[in-house]
Amino acid sequence: MSDCLFCKIIAGEIPSTKVYEDETVLAFRDIAPQAPTHILVIPKAHIKDAGEITPENSALIAHCMEVVAIVAKQENLTGGFRVVSNCGADAGQTVNHLHFHVLGGRELSLQMA
Ligand code: AMP
Repeated sequence: MSDCLFCKIIAGEIPSTKVYEDETVLAFRDIAPQAPTHILVIPKAHIKDAGEITPENSALIAHCMEVVAIVAKQENLTGGFRVVSNCGADAGQTVNHLHFHVLGGRELSLQMA
């Protein structure tokens, strides 16, 4: 999508600090980290949010989860980490391209909302 920030990052039109890339998934460092490690894992295909996961694209989402595990190992998050995906305005989603936050590197609050 031409007006999507993360599609522009995928296209290389906006710079990012990539930590993993393959044909279908990209992972890069969040520009405003909320933890010592804060990585965003995104499908290269434009999917708006987790509410748009379907049988047709769920293999891609499963691959995103494999990449979550890969980057967690790369970052040496042996103490644990959190995976978060905000979906829609009430959840505070600010970029409308499905992404999985991978947060770790310190003890995280147990607060869920
Ligand atoms: P969300 O609020 O769940 O939609 O998450 C969007 C995330 O994208 C936020 O954590 C932002 O800090 C992050 N972000 C926004 N612009 C960029 C950028 N150019 N490069 C890396 N991360 C970004």
